[in-house]
Amino acid sequence: MAELQVQVLTPAKVVVKTSAQLVELPGALGYMGILPGHTRMISELAAGTMTLGSGQEQQTYFISGGYVDVNQDHVTVLADVVERPLDIDVKRAEEAKARALSRFVDSSGVDIARAQAALLRAERRLALATTRLGA
Ligand code: ATP
Repeated sequence: MAELQVQVLTPAKVVVKTSAQLVELPGALGYMGILPGHTRMISELAAGTMTLGSGQEQQTYFISGGYVDVNQDHVTVLADVVERPLDIDVKRAEEAKARALSRFVDSSGVDIARAQAALLRAERRLALATTRLGA
């Protein structure tokens, strides 16, 4: 079966270099699936779960947003932050969520877009960590 050549980079390093049959990414308008033969594309990514699938195997990662470039079965993900499910500190994400929510209560002087982005990161970290815990 045709495969995608996938590279996931942060500003610091190459985090993942592998092949996959399916890449699922969090787009600004929702999750997008990329299969071999996908058209050329550059797109912005939101915070959420990136899934690399091959046969029955799936690897999941949290990414905090970035960009994807798809070109002739080469998928390059440029992400600010990449975490494996086991890297996610649930308590820290819960605290970040509570902090973000508190900013909506008294929102005078608050950068709402920034608070929304922090809330999304926290909620999506928690969603992935919950999957890991089998809850
Ligand atoms: P916080 O307010 O807790 O820093 P954040 O969403 O603002 O959360 P980021 O800017 O996305 O944090 O990431 C900053 C650094 O902290 C990155 O290295 C990221 O991997 C790490 N990090 C943030 N939250 C967590 C978490 N819940 N578990 C593990 N690492 C985290």
